[in-house]
Amino acid sequence: MPTHAACPPTELLRAATAAVEAACRATRSVHDRPGEIHAHLKEDRSPVTIADFAAQAVVVLTLERLLPPPLRLVGEERPEVLEGEAGRTLLDAATAAVRTVLPDVRPEDVIAAVHRGTAEPDARGFWTLDPVDGTKGFLRRQQYAVALAFIADGRPSVAALGCPHLPAAIDGDVDSSDPRGCLASATLGGGATIRPLGTADGDARRIRAARWSPSTGIVSCESVESSHSKQDRTAAVLARCGSSAPPVRLDSQCKYAVVARGQAHAYLRLPTKKDYVERIWDHAAGSLVATEAGAVVTDCEGRPLDFRHGRGLERNRGIVAASPELHPRLIEAIART
Ligand code: AMP
Ligand code: MG
Repeated sequence: MPTHAACPPTELLRAATAAVEAACRATRSVHDRPGEIHAHLKEDRSPVTIADFAAQAVVVLTLERLLPPPLRLVGEERPEVLEGEAGRTLLDAATAAVRTVLPDVRPEDVIAAVHRGTAEPDARGFWTLDPVDGTKGFLRRQQYAVALAFIADGRPSVAALGCPHLPAAIDGDVDSSDPRGCLASATLGGGATIRPLGTADGDARRIRAARWSPSTGIVSCESVESSHSKQDRTAAVLARCGSSAPPVRLDSQCKYAVVARGQAHAYLRLPTKKDYVERIWDHAAGSLVATEAGAVVTDCEGRPLDFRHGRGLERNRGIVAASPELHPRLIEAIART
């Protein structure tokens, strides 16, 4: 069976940015209609909203329209809660959000599209999607991301990272919220770019991670949620590197975009639980954008991220994305803290 690994990366990138751009319009429409958010708790007690389902359906339908079949996409969401009488309210609201970009879609098309986004990883190449990364940020109307990547030979090769509330300009505060948002993208070996959402791919400009030297202070970022990253240990690691500035806290893979465009020197994600395995869709798009911008991305023991083990980064622990000069110091400090 052919896979998209045979398509030129530029064609995959064009499809990916179109899919993410459309999905961001759908997630926005949910915020624009008060009372429409409909959060629901999944079995693991993490929240999911109609925006998650709408974005996954829009990405699947857009990639299917723009690329040859078959589509193999490993998305975070499953359609079961949308099914039957119990799922009707959620499904109708998700369908309304999808219709803001695909007006003729029917509820059954939405369920089927979400379902087609539940494939298993395949060594020959597959897409992975976090339709709303940082759902808690989405619910707080702060940062969240629509994160789509193609993975070939165990590593991300194409990435589109929609950040609907991240300012396109980088001269403001790292964590300020801007309703215009931006879209970062990258191809392996082709560099990383960013453009405001709602503009053309041709408007994208190159981004570069910041340089760092010991005389520079460390601007860093971490999760808002203390259950996702060990914040006191991060503070101790930064102190060991001579920095007392507290990390900026923001949700989602926007943290990778912030490092990639030189607004922060580091994104640290130190494990809070011994057995937690990071999900591939939480890191595939962001890590490629940051790496292609010149940052170094590894786990917190300095190992490269290894996407060859199904839906989880089974061989990795935590994340460190940082300027190349700072990265080794952080890894060393983590080992001693
Ligand atoms: P962030 O917005 O960076 O805090 O990351 C959000 C992501 O954290 C979600 O998509 C979850 O998949 C993931 N997550 C959930 N539980 C944990 C955990 N215990 N440690 C690290 N990440 C987690
Ligand atoms: Mg996520």
